Amino acid sequence: MQEFPAGGECHVFFTHFHWDHIQGLPYFAPLYDPDWRVHFHSVHEPNVLEGYLAWQMQAPYFPVAMPMTQEPRSIHECRRAGSTSAGLRLQRFPLRHPDSAHGYRIDVEGRSMVLAFDHEHGNEDIDRRVTEYAAGADVLIYDAQYTPQEYDAHRGWGHSTWEQAVRVAHEAGARQLVLFHHDPTHADDVITGIVEQARRQFLETVAAKEGSSIVCDDVAIPGTATRRLSPAGGS
Ligand SMILES: [Zn+2]
Ligand SMILES: [Zn+2]
Repeated sequence: MQEFPAGGECHVFFTHFHWDHIQGLPYFAPLYDPDWRVHFHSVHEPNVLEGYLAWQMQAPYFPVAMPMTQEPRSIHECRRAGSTSAGLRLQRFPLRHPDSAHGYRIDVEGRSMVLAFDHEHGNEDIDRRVTEYAAGADVLIYDAQYTPQEYDAHRGWGHSTWEQAVRVAHEAGARQLVLFHHDPTHADDVITGIVEQARRQFLETVAAKEGSSIVCDDVAIPGTATRRLSPAGGS
């Protein structure tokens, strides 16, 4: 809101509806500002998504109903075969997570970003598809909740490790890897250590953090065919 005081347009992608993915939404200021257009994307029909979100915004949980964006067409269903919504080319793929979840590949103006979190590796079919959809992505945002040491005690919880994130980034030929879905018990120094280890195997790795942005530009790295992606902004 401070960065774009005149308003703007933004996109919110729902991978699934566990609390950690929707509880912040009632406090998301652009929803209540007519200068903003908020697009919601999910794998569900618009009325189904609306129902899921409206449910948490009623008494006794919350005193204000969600405006659900200004126009009905701001709620988009990403179909199994893919779809184009609001200028974004979208593809979805299933993830391995309790109660199910979906990842997305977003292509816009020659750039691509892949969201693959709330995903636990280990199902060959699903893992292969994640890698296929992540092929050549400019930015791969992958679930790296656990360290490999912690993972054994959390099998079946629906989350992955930084080691697996690096593996997928390599196999998919992604250009930048963003580690995401940090474990709530990991303090900043733990995350920093994880990124250091991951960077030894995949140099272009960063950890997602609140307020950061990633700018895709076209500067070539000598000796490679890849574009450079610079993490910018953030604090
Ligand atoms: Zn979840
Ligand atoms: Zn989650």
